[in-house]
Parts: sequence; C-alpha cells; structure tokens
Amino acid sequence: MSAPGENLRINSARLWDSLDQMAQIGPGVAGGCNRQTLTDADNAGRHLFKDWCEAAGMTMGVDTMGNMFATRAGTDPAALPVYMGSHLDTQPTGGRYDGVLGVLGALEVVRSLNDLGIRTKHPIVVTNWTNEEGARFAPAMLASGVFAGLHTQDYAYGRTDLEGKRFGDELARIGWVGDEPVGARKMHAMFELHIEQGPILEAEGKTIGVVTHGQGLWWLEITLTGKDAHTGSTPMNMRVNAGLGMARITERVHQIAMSHQPNAVGAVGQVTVFPNSRNVIPGKVVFTVDIRSPEQAKLDAMRAEVERAAHAVAAELGLGCSIEPVGHFDPVTFDPALVQVVRGAAERLGYSHMDIVSGAGHDACWINRVAPTVMVMCPCVGGLSHNEAEEISPEWAAAGADVLLHAVLEVAEVVA
Ligand SMILES: [Zn+2]
Repeated sequence: MSAPGENLRINSARLWDSLDQMAQIGPGVAGGCNRQTLTDADNAGRHLFKDWCEAAGMTMGVDTMGNMFATRAGTDPAALPVYMGSHLDTQPTGGRYDGVLGVLGALEVVRSLNDLGIRTKHPIVVTNWTNEEGARFAPAMLASGVFAGLHTQDYAYGRTDLEGKRFGDELARIGWVGDEPVGARKMHAMFELHIEQGPILEAEGKTIGVVTHGQGLWWLEITLTGKDAHTGSTPMNMRVNAGLGMARITERVHQIAMSHQPNAVGAVGQVTVFPNSRNVIPGKVVFTVDIRSPEQAKLDAMRAEVERAAHAVAAELGLGCSIEPVGHFDPVTFDPALVQVVRGAAERLGYSHMDIVSGAGHDACWINRVAPTVMVMCPCVGGLSHNEAEEISPEWAAAGADVLLHAVLEVAEVVA
C-alpha cells in the first residue's frame, strides 16, 4: 500500500457549505434538523445527495432497502470497492452533523480527489444507509442490519411507525426502492466518519478519535416481588420492600461497572414501582439494568455479577427475583489493520488523536460483520448529540474528512 502525499487536504469551505445546505432540508425548530427516515424531507435530502454525487462524476446504485451507493470508478475493474459513508436521516429533534458529516465528508473526499486528479486502483463508493436512527421505525441501524444479515428484509419492511405506516410502503412512497438485492455488494473496506456524540475527545483536547471498538451491551429486566403494605403501620422488621431491593441493586450495578474499568458502564435507567403510591411500601418493582463493555469477557462477567448481586439482595430481603435479558449486542472489534491506517493518517497529518471506544451504535458496527470496517470520530461541543443544539467546528469537520481522505487513499491505492 502506498501512502499519499502529506500535503493533500480536502476543501474545508466546500464541506462546510454542503453541510449547511443539507441542514436546510427538513429544518428543525431550534436550528437543528428533523429529517426523519422515509419522509418527504428524507426524499429531498436523498435527491440533493444524488445530484451532488452525479455532478462529481459518480454513478448511483440503490438497493431494495433504499441504501444509496455512489461509485467513483477505479482503474482495476476487478478490485473490490472501498466504501465510506454514514446516514442522512436524523432524529425528530436532531442535529446537523450526526451521520451527515460521514456522508458529506465522504463526498468531499471524492470531490477533492477529482480536484487533485488522483485516481485509485480500487473503486470508491460513498454510501447513505437508510434509517440509521430508528426514531420513526425501530430498531436503529435497520438497513445496514439487513445488509449485514442481522434482519430479514421482510422484517424491515414490516416495521411500523406511530401512525401504523409500514417501512416498506413508505420506502416505495418516496421512490427509493432500488433494484439491487440488499447485501449483495462485497467490500474491500468500509470507513465511517462520525461525530463522537460524547464528551471525551473535547475534554482530552484531541481532534481525532481512532475508533478501535464498539460497546457491547446487555439489557436485563429485573422484577422484584415483595408485599404491598401500609408505610405507617407496618413495623420495619416485618416489611418485604421491593423498592429497597431495587435501590440496593442499583448501587451494586454502579459498583460492578466501576470495578471493570476502563470503558465499562452500567446504570439502572427505567424503573416502574407498584403500586406507586406515596403511603404504600412497594410490593413490586420492575427495572432495567443497562451494562456495556467493549470486551466480551468483561461484558459477560458483568452480567453474571449483576445477576448474582440481584439474587443475593433479594434473598437478604425476602424478595422474589426474576431476571430477563431484553436486549443484547456483542462488542465490536474494528479491523485492526484499518484502525492502524486511520491512526497513521491522523499522525501523518499532525492531528492530535487518541484511541476511543464508540459508546453508541453505528452502521459500521453491523457492516463490520461482513467487511473490514473502521470508524473515524471528531469531537462535538459538550458531547451533545440527538439534540438540535449539536455543534462541531469547521476545523473538526475538516480534520475528520482529511483523515478519511488519507486513510481511504492508502487502502484504495493511488495510481501514479
Ligand atoms: Zn449517527
């Protein structure tokens, strides 16, 4: 693999202008965006993206999930393409950059290659994955999940929004059911540039996050059963208090996550107390534990420890205890060779960087199952995302796209 010249940079002003133009489509109410998947706004955003790709000399392919693939030809027709992209759909009160930076940053890479007259052996493909957010049609990362074989297309088509509209019908309504079978494409590599959506890079003063892993997770739903009783007239030693059990387990979840640092996290996020009356000792509490780690062994150990702790607390207090797993992702280990390519590009370009774990799910996490994949992250102000106030600097955006440019060029192989 040949490393390109260190002096190459993307056009920062053009990237920033394109981000701004895309944000005008499906504007939010507070400066962000509401461009939810398979809406008219999504359709308009897709057309703008398609027009830009074609103006940059690329040809657009669309699969039956509406995933968009704009190809810049390589010199070797037999070489597998190098992919880069993310998603253009947003949350209902979403920001301008979540996903969009990864798609338009990739487009800017191709525009820059055109400006510089650089050709590559491998074709380069810029991708927009359908329905990454999952806000309108759960679950998130739906179309990349079908592409990677996690879900069937029938399952995806049958997902419904709050009005009962089906994903498949809405995809057809906006005119983006393509003719390519989903998942048929083979990839030499896949890159996703994304904002961090967390506070670490900014706090550490780093411009580039080299994403080595994605968090795996378990969601455990715990039901504790005690006895409803009067809070005033029941002696303390005669209570079977499910609320007390929930509180003690919550504390244990925190301790367990703390004992598996670095990167492990854990919390009780959702609690339903029965009968939820101010003068009744709770006879039942149902709550969910969310534990995450980028390491499979740690994740499994944390789950076992949480379950042991919950049963021990319940036994101590005389409570019934049942535990049901209600959600799970395995940790993601991104391709080590591509991770090194991204790290090396950041280093050569002189951008401050650090290795980082993605706390959120991304299309790259699913594509990693079927192709060598890696992510590049840039900071966002205050770690804020999924919020219209989401903000990044033009310098951060440009740095992320520069690293993408150099990493993709190394893997796609510059033709002299
Ligand atoms: Zn995103």
